[in-house]
Amino acid sequence: MTPSSQTKLSDFDDVEEESHQPSHRVVTEFRRSKKSERKLWKKTTNEDEEWGVCNFDETVFLVQLIDGRLHAYGREAVCKWCDGVLEIREEVKVFCSGRCGKYQGEFSPDLDDFLRWEGVKSYTLRKIVAEVEALELEARDHVPIQYAPNWSVLFEYEDDEYEADP
Ligand SMILES: [Zn+2]
Repeated sequence: MTPSSQTKLSDFDDVEEESHQPSHRVVTEFRRSKKSERKLWKKTTNEDEEWGVCNFDETVFLVQLIDGRLHAYGREAVCKWCDGVLEIREEVKVFCSGRCGKYQGEFSPDLDDFLRWEGVKSYTLRKIVAEVEALELEARDHVPIQYAPNWSVLFEYEDDEYEADP
């Protein structure tokens, strides 16, 4: 009976050790993932500034409003036809106020529209962007994605199983 109680004691020691290790590992992995997040998406918006979202022909991007003028990627956004200054009309439409006066696309002061309009399509990146920019994820982002293999991959799997199983 003595050996069994010794085994139990050593088991207990193992459990003690293991209970320390995973938490340490989680912290390390958390730090590592934080680092890679920064590489994937750099914080763009700022609470102290006025930001919005533009959707120009399916190109969705974050814009900063400076004195009512649109800035993206660090410079003023201009008309793609005549380089004229852009202006927001009726709060949601962007027009060229220069020579051509053409309609450019949609505007929204609601930053959540950046994800709603699919400014980012990748499931992983959407989650990162939502966290970094403090945006609301869509309901569908909370549903785990099923990575359905295409048919050819499925057939290859079946063939492999046949060969492995005599
Ligand atoms: Zn123009």
